[in-house]
Amino acid sequence: MSSEDTLQIGVRYIKGVGESREKLMLRLGISTLGDLICHFPRAYEDRTQFKQTNSLIIGETVCVRAMAATAPQLSHIRKGLDIVKLRAVDEVGSIELTFFNQSFIKDAIKPGETYIFYGKVDGTLTKPAMVNPLFERDFSEERKGAVPSQSSITGRIMPVYSLTAGLSQKMMLNAVRNALNKCAEDLPDILPKNIVKEHELCTARYAYENIHFPQDIKALEIARKRLIFEELFMLATAMRHLREKGMEKTGTKLTMPDWEEFLKALSFKPTGAQMRSINEAAFDMISDRAMNRLIQGDVGSGKTLVAAACCFMTWKSGCQAAFMAPTEILAKQHYSSLSKLLEPLGLHMGLLTGSMTAKQKRDIYAKLSLGEIDLIIGTHALISQDVSFRNLALVITDEQHRFGVNQRSMLTEKGDSPHVLVMSATPIPRTLALIIYGDLDVSVIDEMPPGRRDIETYVVSEKHRQRVYGFIKKLVSEGRQAYIICPMVEELEGTAENTPGNFLDSYDKKTTTLPHLTGLTSAVEYHKKLKAEIFPELKVELVHGKMKTKQKDEAMRAFADGEADIIVATTVVEVGVDVPNAALIIVENADRFGLSQLHQLRGRVGRGAHDSFCVLFRGADGENSRERLEIMRKTNDGFKIAEQDLKIRGPGDFFGSRQHGLPEMKIANLASDMVILSQAQTAANENLNADSKLCKPENRKLAEKIMQLFEISADKLN
Ligand code: ADP
Ligand code: MG
Repeated sequence: MSSEDTLQIGVRYIKGVGESREKLMLRLGISTLGDLICHFPRAYEDRTQFKQTNSLIIGETVCVRAMAATAPQLSHIRKGLDIVKLRAVDEVGSIELTFFNQSFIKDAIKPGETYIFYGKVDGTLTKPAMVNPLFERDFSEERKGAVPSQSSITGRIMPVYSLTAGLSQKMMLNAVRNALNKCAEDLPDILPKNIVKEHELCTARYAYENIHFPQDIKALEIARKRLIFEELFMLATAMRHLREKGMEKTGTKLTMPDWEEFLKALSFKPTGAQMRSINEAAFDMISDRAMNRLIQGDVGSGKTLVAAACCFMTWKSGCQAAFMAPTEILAKQHYSSLSKLLEPLGLHMGLLTGSMTAKQKRDIYAKLSLGEIDLIIGTHALISQDVSFRNLALVITDEQHRFGVNQRSMLTEKGDSPHVLVMSATPIPRTLALIIYGDLDVSVIDEMPPGRRDIETYVVSEKHRQRVYGFIKKLVSEGRQAYIICPMVEELEGTAENTPGNFLDSYDKKTTTLPHLTGLTSAVEYHKKLKAEIFPELKVELVHGKMKTKQKDEAMRAFADGEADIIVATTVVEVGVDVPNAALIIVENADRFGLSQLHQLRGRVGRGAHDSFCVLFRGADGENSRERLEIMRKTNDGFKIAEQDLKIRGPGDFFGSRQHGLPEMKIANLASDMVILSQAQTAANENLNADSKLCKPENRKLAEKIMQLFEISADKLN
């Protein structure tokens, strides 16, 4: 049997896995032995620490080797509560052991025999105890220093797997053990030999064995390194391959406009960083090669102006530009602010969103293809098949992390390799940007428009609620406006605008089932209550993703024009919305949001000349999140916050969404495995330089795996 075949065997093959467990495993994405060995532990439990009974520390979890000194005593306390108690001794002292509702232990532990007990130390220093410890017979005397057997549960580092209801750790562990034994000779090994050697990586066999059942911490590290390297090597290889298809693009050569005309139209002076970014983009666009540039700047740094300048230049060169925003609200806002700036200069603009009538859309389609619109602003509606351009030379996407790789390229395909400008407030580590965007150039706007002050941030609990409401009233009486952000059940399940797949959202998506608004169930009800009971004298608007476009527009307009004092909103206002008179944002259940998302939300205020405030309500279980939210209080720096956010969220999917077009990482953490990432990338490049089509025999498995992962066909790869 060839190795592929062994890995393809269904999990049913494993003893103890029947039809129902097979189904449960499928929920975890496991259907074959190959999947099973790639179901890496999500954590480990170190059970290698042995202590003697006289040196135990209360609260620590350790192994104790001790002899049962008394026969286990079973007592029925009441119906449904049995207790087994015994005392065990080692050379230096003793320990009390208590088991709840495990009456079988009465016969399982025999006085005079030595066991290893693993558990959390309880009791007192002089009278240590353990409750419900795991235990097994101690054979170390008989075996004399032999490595723990495959089935032992103490004295080793134990894997902890992600499970689903109905599966137990033990069951999963046995299944993985079984699969590993079966596949030992055929483990997937896609790395070319010379790379394994050069980077001093262990063999695939060692890696798979030790990622699940590490001999010790060192072995685990070695195994992890190999598997992370392999995964990132694959990612880097695949991304470069995909990219190279579009590399030789030439782009439309634009001409340098008279910038004076543009600058004169502005109501403010661009910052140095904005000027630099505009300059960099302009030089890209007059060159032979298509621009591929990321404008990275914190919330409020003024990215839109750079976009406007590029649109201006494109129009002056006689070409069309398209500007795609992730939400309708944002598209409309860009439309209104850019039309104020650019239309007086003579540029023709259009707006295209999904909610427009068929007739309105047809009108736009016609004007676009005739070239009567110079700049079109819109949502995903722009990638519709019906949209065609006369001469599209520039494509801009705002807050790009919300768009999939595919969506972006679908828009660029509407032009003859147009220039591409991507705007993002999310700091993407440089190496990562390289992998994902390849030759993407980056302009960083590292300077805020003048006069901006830090937003004062408070983390509060329920008991401050009345004071917070009082504060709202005070600010409103001074002429300011406020946002109240509130999660909404339906939206968390994903609506068009609360785009699923935004990696910043993934934090809440996973942890939130229902918002813990005390006594409140949704933005809708909260809005009602605020309007009727709390602020009867104020004008309170509501906006959420499930509203009709018309209502949504009207609410946003009323707020933007200062007619409404307060707007209760879901995260539809998260990105980009710009109402400079708003000076306060209150976030209910702030612990339900990722830090970067909170930072985005906070960026809705502090956009004008007023002192601005952000109040974060800790939810019911807020104690745990206090530390996390404190970060928000301490810094206004989006880069620092993103860093912390990634750190806290730990290993997992930085870009783990299908939306992004990247395969899900099984073990690598794109945020924290930066060192291995750059090694893997160098290796991938060298390997491709030597064998650009991956057709040499040593690259065969790699090529196959990549195609499988990215679900791409061979001709696309080559
Ligand atoms: P973001 O980078 O978050 O997209 P925007 O482009 O929306 O930021 O700009 C935020 C606000 O700052 C807008 O109201 C915009 O008009 C204003 N702004 C941008 N650049 C400047 C500047 N150089 N001086 C003063 N205000 C500016
Ligand atoms: Mg913006």
